[in-house]
Amino acid sequence: MPKTLIEPFRIKSIEPIRMTTRAERERLLAEAKLNVFQLRADDVLIDWLTDSGTGAMSSRQWGAIMEGDESYAGARSFYRLQQVVQGITGMAHFVPTHQGRAAEKVLFAAVCKPGQLVPNNCHFDTTRANLEYAGVEAVDLVIAEGLQPALIHPFKGDIDLARVEALLKSDGARIPFGMLTVTNNTGGGQPVSMANIRAYSALLKRHGKPLIMDVCRFAENAMFIKMREPGYEHTPVKDIAREMFSYADGATMSAKKDGMVNIGGFIVLRSDEWLDAVRNDLIMMEGFPTYGGMAGRDLEALAVGLDEGLDEDYLRYRLRTAEYLGERLEAAGIGFVKPTGGHAVYIDARTVLPDMPVAHYPAWALCNQLYLEGGIRGVEVGSVMFGKRLPDGTETFHPMELVRLAFPRRMYTQSHFDYAAEVIAEAKQHAASVRGIRIVKQPPFLRHFTCECAWVE
Ligand SMILES: *Cc1c(COP(=O)(O)O)cnc(C)c1O
Repeated sequence: MPKTLIEPFRIKSIEPIRMTTRAERERLLAEAKLNVFQLRADDVLIDWLTDSGTGAMSSRQWGAIMEGDESYAGARSFYRLQQVVQGITGMAHFVPTHQGRAAEKVLFAAVCKPGQLVPNNCHFDTTRANLEYAGVEAVDLVIAEGLQPALIHPFKGDIDLARVEALLKSDGARIPFGMLTVTNNTGGGQPVSMANIRAYSALLKRHGKPLIMDVCRFAENAMFIKMREPGYEHTPVKDIAREMFSYADGATMSAKKDGMVNIGGFIVLRSDEWLDAVRNDLIMMEGFPTYGGMAGRDLEALAVGLDEGLDEDYLRYRLRTAEYLGERLEAAGIGFVKPTGGHAVYIDARTVLPDMPVAHYPAWALCNQLYLEGGIRGVEVGSVMFGKRLPDGTETFHPMELVRLAFPRRMYTQSHFDYAAEVIAEAKQHAASVRGIRIVKQPPFLRHFTCECAWVE
């Protein structure tokens, strides 16, 4: 058997990417105030800023687009998608939204009250923001292994059940439901085991609490279970996904991830207890319950995308992609969050720029360097994103300096990954000449998106 795992598709429609010279990129990055968020996408060669809504649709999906029923109420496209979603999730109620954060906002507005508290392995930033906006405290309880980048563990996304139990005992009255993010995006795209999902669900049930899963990457999580959890080697991924959902009482989804579409999301609920409240909020914030913020054509594309996202050849190639880049980095002596997760590789910038002080933002500096060296755009997950400038002018720093390279689905081929591995290795070779940055202008919140930077002299 040949060892090379090929892309399980061929290319029917292409989008050219523009080659730029190093001199051009020096100028473009300077114009962007050394902040890759401010670059035009046309000036990026390989755009690994995010895997959210950036993937390629299949010819089957583009065909389905023409089938879209744009009726305001009761559209055929809604019923088609509802059937697909119910088939995977086993949940009675399907509520479409325009993306994942809208699903969160609608659900939390309908169900949560100020002063409450919600446990999760790690809340994604929009989930945390929507809970906090509703006056709810978001508590992250991922297992300790999940916070150690170099440590190998098959399910670093698992939630710490002992800490959940302690919280249920001390603050149970304040907890409306438990959440679980699969895969754990904030924790490096790391999967959650079936054993952990099952035990967490049972623990919540003993305390009379429902389980709401954040299922943006449920298909990638199901494939990890197949590959890593004893007893699931021969189970079809669709059945694994169904079993994962069987332990939940509801879920929120960003279809921009494993839905394989460019926009969309939904809520599913097993019981009708919250349904009226959710639908009322939906009508106010998103739209009528049979389209909920999506066009009929988008509902059709999602119905096909959910099916394609569970294809095992696709998933094997998808997870192998991240693993492959990890192997190339390992060979070049570059550290990263291990094992590689589903949708991204997180480079440990300190292993590339070991001598750069954290006050010069090494992960941000590496991000800039990857753009300058090779036109690659990643995102800093470090002290610019999570640190703060205090009123006295001093800074708080994040414990990790990571650069996340997130892979759009079905977009880039192996040669793009080989090229990226070379660019990253070269950045390490040129470490002595890589410049740190200082922040010259920043907003009070989420500063990484818009801050203006200058080189450290
Ligand atoms: C992307 C994401 C969301 C939010 O979805 P959007 O479609 O971007 O609004 C929520 N949770 C997780 C884990 C995500 O990755």
